[in-house]
Amino acid sequence: MWEEMNEPTQTIAWDQELISQAESLCAAAHECARRGWVPATAGNFSFRDRASGRIFITASGLDKGSVTPDDLLEIDLNCDVVAGSRKPSAETSLHGVIYRNRPDTGAIFHVHSIWNTLLSDRFARDGAVPLENYELLKALSDVTTHEHRELVPILENSQEYAGLALEVAGALRDYPAAHGVLLRRHGLYTWGESIAGTRRHLEALEFLFEVESRRLSCES
Ligand SMILES: [Zn+2]
Repeated sequence: MWEEMNEPTQTIAWDQELISQAESLCAAAHECARRGWVPATAGNFSFRDRASGRIFITASGLDKGSVTPDDLLEIDLNCDVVAGSRKPSAETSLHGVIYRNRPDTGAIFHVHSIWNTLLSDRFARDGAVPLENYELLKALSDVTTHEHRELVPILENSQEYAGLALEVAGALRDYPAAHGVLLRRHGLYTWGESIAGTRRHLEALEFLFEVESRRLSCES
């Protein structure tokens, strides 16, 4: 289906530091594609430059295994496109709500892995996936011991993103120590203070989701 052409928007004004961060973001997206976490153009990736506060996000419908800085859009905190010519993803609004409610966030990754999809359904009635007593929990910011109970809140999936953004804001308020939010049978949003920090959180959470899923299937 042909998409309506957006109003022509201005070209992103890159500088050396921003391009370096954009390349790191794309490298993280490529790695997620290699690991099978963003199949069939799923997922989206963004970063917020700490110095300027400018936010950049992958556009809609791209193979995340081959995205380049040219595929990014610059958005503001309200998720309006400031620069870039591609079409924004409907999920852009969920990045905006996380940046607004977690001021220290420097990057957000969203992936659709098999393990996060399975666990988001398995624990939907409980409202959160519990992860506890695993060494790798220490990869999450401010967690210093395996004797930690991480709760990853689960929201019902929806295609109505304005309402979903309000739900995400509620989950961020209700789970102030959370490092991620799951959408049921959909995927994970995780964030961190930097691109590297978010990548570490994603790798840790996906490892823990897989371990927990396999443990539960072994015991059933
Ligand atoms: Zn998604």
